[in-house]
Amino acid sequence: TQFSDLKLDPKVLKAIAEAGYTTPTPIQAQAIPHALEGRDVLGIAQTGTGKTASFTLPLITRLGRGRARARMPRSLVLAPTRELAAQVAENFDTYAKHTRLTKALLIGGVAFGEQDKLIDRGVDVLIATPGRLLDHFERGKLLLTGVEVMVVDEADRMLDMGFIPDIERIFGLTPFTRQTFFYSATMAPEIERITNTFLSNPARIEI
Ligand code: AMP
Repeated sequence: TQFSDLKLDPKVLKAIAEAGYTTPTPIQAQAIPHALEGRDVLGIAQTGTGKTASFTLPLITRLGRGRARARMPRSLVLAPTRELAAQVAENFDTYAKHTRLTKALLIGGVAFGEQDKLIDRGVDVLIATPGRLLDHFERGKLLLTGVEVMVVDEADRMLDMGFIPDIERIFGLTPFTRQTFFYSATMAPEIERITNTFLSNPARIEI
């Protein structure tokens, strides 16, 4: 498979070529076609496999040209740590650089003010750690009823860090009609339970 065989937005293909990628990694080659068809994806993969691009590239393609409304992000990416969330945000900037999609990074240890301003303007992609996201929600600054796509990255680490109740709560704040991409390095029983509850007939891809 070549990137050009995947039905990605030409703006995304251009950014990938500029990043120097020639061939999709196995998780990308397997996940992206399902994601672009609108299916939920359950990716069982470690870091270093190219999993971030496997959800970010179809996410950007799917969001296309739509326009975000104030306080109603169109997509949500949850990561267990600030560092990981920041890495996803950096990847998004690289792959979305020829689009007009907007993002906000919501992580702890930073003042709320700047993050509030970005949310107020309307963002296509909200990248967050679970605790900080719920802080914003509880402050009444954010609605998740417009979320079209939700991504959970590194669910096994979320479990280790005690974030599963937060993740379940956040799932419950988003519409049933959302598309979900869920990634975990391992499938503990608790993770299996969450995927059975919140994913709808997912394409299961194990690398
Ligand atoms: P990840 O597993 O998402 O943390 O990605 C691991 C590294 O691989 C990152 O530095 C990416 O920039 C890089 N990468 C992702 N996909 C590709 C690709 N198809 N070709 C070359 N490098 C890639």
